[in-house]
Amino acid sequence: MSDKIALITGANKGIGLETARQLAQKGYMVLIGARDQERGEKAVQALCDEGLQARFVLLDLNDKATIDAAAQSVEAQFSHLDVLVNNAGVFQDDSAPSEVSEKVLRDTYATNVFAPVFVTQAFLPLLKKSQAGRVVNVSSTLGSLGDQSDTSSDFYGANVLAYNSSKSALNMITVSFAKELRDTPIKVNAVCPGYVATDANNHQGPRTVQQGATASVRYATLPDDGPSGGFFDEDGPVAW
Ligand code: NAP
Repeated sequence: MSDKIALITGANKGIGLETARQLAQKGYMVLIGARDQERGEKAVQALCDEGLQARFVLLDLNDKATIDAAAQSVEAQFSHLDVLVNNAGVFQDDSAPSEVSEKVLRDTYATNVFAPVFVTQAFLPLLKKSQAGRVVNVSSTLGSLGDQSDTSSDFYGANVLAYNSSKSALNMITVSFAKELRDTPIKVNAVCPGYVATDANNHQGPRTVQQGATASVRYATLPDDGPSGGFFDEDGPVAW
């Protein structure tokens, strides 16, 4: 069994599942975080059928008890964690900013903003036991204040308040953790996968999940002299 352990949230499908696959291909034991046991176990089986090492971890990001229980379970089984990919996210906006509902705003922030903080806090003691802990927060260029203010941006028209602002907040959360951990080996970065065909956008995105997972995997496996506290896509830095 590999002693390199990676946990990916929302890993039962989409970019998360592909991130898990690519990390497993690099020799990691991947822990498939999923809120539904059946969906999670199915993803684990798919990876094991490919000869990869994967286990299911129950993680419902809207239920903090599952986050704390998952950390205890990972500690009992593996004693440490090398990679945490805060990948799970929701896109629920279906209105102009002036009409965004309280439910959409609260649900989006619960999953995209509060949960990555709770998950990172819960797993930090285990990441500190790794020689090279890495945290990747899966953000979006839609959360870039610079890009959303640029009238020539391809995404200028994507004016969705809840999702975009949740990813801006995730970017600041990335900077905050990176600063706190700057004197440790742990690196914390935000990445954008690009516009990827997944269930989140009814498979409208032009990029494949294989392409979308590239940045998450690269920043999950950074060398010791790699950056921390940045925001990147597969081509390099993204404007804040
Ligand atoms: P996806 O196919 O819809 O997958 C989202 C994953 O998150 C699913 O596994 C889903 O689980 C999980 N999830 C959602 N809410 C959860 C909760 N409360 N607890 C546990 N798991 C939860 O979406 P995706 O496109 O792969 O998105 C992955 C990440 O990339 C997200 O953070 C998204 O914002 C980001 N992103 C995507 C794009 C894109 O173009 N696709 C672009 C930029 C950024 P269930 O199956 O149980 O719902």
